[in-house]
Amino acid sequence: MKITDLKCAILGGSPVVRIATDAGIEGYGQAEHFKPYLKPHVLFYRDYIVGQDPTDVERVMLRIRRLGSFKPWGSAVSAIEMALWDIAGQAAGLPVYKLLGGKVRDKVRVYNGAIRFPLAGQEPQHYAENMARMAELPEGFSIIKQGIGFHSAMPDELDSYYYGERLGAYHQTERGLLTPRGLKHTVACVEAMQEVLGDEIGLALDCGPGWTLPDAIRLAKTLEGTNVLWLEDMITGDYTPFVLAELYREVTRSTSTPIHTGEQIYLRQNFKALFEMQAVNIVGPDPADIGGIAELKWVAEYADLHGILMAPHGTGDGLIGLAALVQAAAALPRNYIAFEYPVGRPDWWYDIVDGLPDPIVEHSYINVWDRPGLGISMNKNATRNYLAADDKDFFN
Ligand SMILES: [Mg+2]
Repeated sequence: MKITDLKCAILGGSPVVRIATDAGIEGYGQAEHFKPYLKPHVLFYRDYIVGQDPTDVERVMLRIRRLGSFKPWGSAVSAIEMALWDIAGQAAGLPVYKLLGGKVRDKVRVYNGAIRFPLAGQEPQHYAENMARMAELPEGFSIIKQGIGFHSAMPDELDSYYYGERLGAYHQTERGLLTPRGLKHTVACVEAMQEVLGDEIGLALDCGPGWTLPDAIRLAKTLEGTNVLWLEDMITGDYTPFVLAELYREVTRSTSTPIHTGEQIYLRQNFKALFEMQAVNIVGPDPADIGGIAELKWVAEYADLHGILMAPHGTGDGLIGLAALVQAAAALPRNYIAFEYPVGRPDWWYDIVDGLPDPIVEHSYINVWDRPGLGISMNKNATRNYLAADDKDFFN
């Protein structure tokens, strides 16, 4: 079998990859809906892979993997990798998880990091009210993640939250030492949310990046005994093109509160220091950023050798990304906790993807489906309604 074409359409902000073959099998992949600008980056790889056998996933990936980088520049490579597995699975008549070594679990746990309600304010009662709404969602999430600190509006909306200068750019660019008031306020919001959740639902906190080392240690130590599931991305993280494992090690060694990072990290080599230095307790690579499904599986095995847990990121990955997450999570080792459940945005995404269960999530779990490849398909007639003028030939 040979790859005959690589195409990319932007559907609801998401770059969607379609790989066509001379056997009539086609595969799909998707990057986050925050990244519509990646279309030319996806198409850059076309000439590298046309003519190759898509069922030799690794040999195709060797041609393009080194031409990517940390978030967002690993997403195009990652979405192509998903599409290759989709083809390989269909060609073999097997779901992708079988090609990764087979199922470890029949249903995969997910956590809520994407189904959000606007916060009415930045006071503890607003965080509590907001958490109460999320706790009542029909998906019955057993873990809910909330943004605090530099991963929230606290630095913008609270007076004297921190001592740094406000940059006001995208993607959590603020950083600086917290004021005594800022740290106290952050802890009060966490306590208010935990009061709502009790012992029934786990609370995870997406914190930055942007915390200074002493504040990161102070927050983690202050929250000891509260059973917060993890503190995510305090030092580096989302859209940070480096890791700083030494600093993470200082935080992790200082506290019993679990420390988490890794959503922006591309490729196994960039996890090496985190694992070998025991610098964190949990990592959260995203199959749509790390380099794909098999890269996530490899990193999870390597993490497990070091006693490090897995909670993969996925908030913006969309419904094809969801299928990739389900396939990967089914085959991850038993250091797996849950992945961050992505939703279809806009809602019409649920009309253009066939094959998902209904409802998708029950009691915080998704049953792993058994159809070949990623196990979903694009409804072409429905999709054509949403293709932009310059994407009209997406299915041709
Ligand atoms: Mg995060």
